[in-house]
Amino acid sequence: MDESTVVRAVEKRLFIDGKWTDATGGATFDVVDPSTGAVLCAVADASPADGRAALDAAVAAQADFARTSPRERSDLLMTAYRLLTERVDELALLMTLEMGKPLAEARGEIAYAAEFFRHFSGEALRIDGGYQTAPAGNARFLITKQPVGPCLLITPWNFPMAMGTRKLGPAIAAGCTSVIKPAHQTPLSMLALMEILAEAGLPAGAVNCVTAMDAGGVMEPLIRSGLARKLSFTGSTKVGRILLEQCAEKVLRTSLELGGNAPFIVFEDADLDEAVTGAIAAKMRNMGEACTAANRIFVHSSVIDDFGRRLAERMGALRVGRGTEEGVNVGPLIDAAGLEKVRSLVADAVDRGATVLTGGEVAMGRERDTGFFYPPTVLTGVPREAAMADQEIFGPVAPLTPFETEDEVVRAANDTEYGLVAYVFTNDLRRALRVAESIETGMVGLNQGVVSNPAAPFGGVKQSGLGREGGSVGIEEFLETKYIGIAVSS
Ligand code: NAP
Repeated sequence: MDESTVVRAVEKRLFIDGKWTDATGGATFDVVDPSTGAVLCAVADASPADGRAALDAAVAAQADFARTSPRERSDLLMTAYRLLTERVDELALLMTLEMGKPLAEARGEIAYAAEFFRHFSGEALRIDGGYQTAPAGNARFLITKQPVGPCLLITPWNFPMAMGTRKLGPAIAAGCTSVIKPAHQTPLSMLALMEILAEAGLPAGAVNCVTAMDAGGVMEPLIRSGLARKLSFTGSTKVGRILLEQCAEKVLRTSLELGGNAPFIVFEDADLDEAVTGAIAAKMRNMGEACTAANRIFVHSSVIDDFGRRLAERMGALRVGRGTEEGVNVGPLIDAAGLEKVRSLVADAVDRGATVLTGGEVAMGRERDTGFFYPPTVLTGVPREAAMADQEIFGPVAPLTPFETEDEVVRAANDTEYGLVAYVFTNDLRRALRVAESIETGMVGLNQGVVSNPAAPFGGVKQSGLGREGGSVGIEEFLETKYIGIAVSS
């Protein structure tokens, strides 16, 4: 399918109770291609009443959905996995158009997204329980797991499909119904996912999708209504904090996958080629717009010049352009605000003494009049006081900072409110384990620049979030444990 056919083919209305529905008053908002700034199409703009209708549908469907057999839910997820896999090309094109990432990365994301369905198709069959004798011997404990109940799921724009399946996979496997709200920048991938779930045989009301410009106006009343039993959110720490407070009112179960500020540490004994390859993977995946992106690259002072030269050579050779074009490695940033943030963080670092090894504003050679492009950039000698040391850059900028000792670099790595992931490159096994255990993050990549895997527990500590997604623990976030005490003698 070509670009306009792919956009035309996808549903643009709300998905409520198994039906495609216009928003109240036929309201819509525009979806923009970040590589051109042009409007791709308009999608339904839900009102608070539409949001409530979606939640009512999820609540009404909950009891029946909870009664479906694990095998039925497992089969549904497996069918959806197959459909996603079969349609990878058209779904990837749709994602590239609304989000900007190069087609090869979009295909990778669809495959990754589909894997969550395959993984949780298996987990649906492995929901366990227990039977135990009370210590006094006079009773038995029957321990069982039940779905939490209707869930509210909110996802970001940077992985428009995978952040959805990472929540919907375990919710469906556990027997929870849900209302999902994608980011306003990237609603199309989620709407396409709804079509696939419907085709896979999803019962009406089991998953509902609302697209909206006023995220807070639509979601806050749902969170405060007490009708949902859980919120699972992926997005910024700033919004996560607001939602956690809102959830407190009705004591909702919460899973929060929030921002990161990943340290990437290269010790003097590391294989430098491997470390450079790892840094490119950790930095450039998704143009640097990832919570897992290497945000602070600490390199031992004895190898920083060599590492910087090799990294700059490889980053400088990457091709920037529209994600749909052949051979493009780096697409645009998501919007003008994202671009402006990267520009100002680089300017601040340079003002504070950092040196540009490649990229920076001037390297584009010209200001593009369309699209939100920023060139792959390597900065060295970035001081710890630079603004980018404390916040997510969310762009293709690799800041290098030298260090001398292991203690010093572990302290620096932990000097952040975030704790999602860290990367450590060393060939010294003892040091690798020592550092991995001392770093305050939920995940560590040892000699590898990518940690995401549907079969592994993904998540952070500190202000990077609460709970885990993926792995065998991912489904627990959507299950309650119930214990039934049984008297056997008086
Ligand atoms: P965001 O601004 O926090 O938005 C995330 C989602 O929350 C969007 O759907 C957004 O809707 C919605 N939202 C915004 N304000 C809201 C409110 N008051 N009430 C309810 N919903 C609200 O984050 P983003 O810019 O889309 O995504 C980037 C962030 O996500 C980064 O911080 C990144 O690190 C984080 N992230 C974390 C993970 C992880 O697994 N830890 C994975 C991916 C991304 P609208 O966009 O429509 O306003």
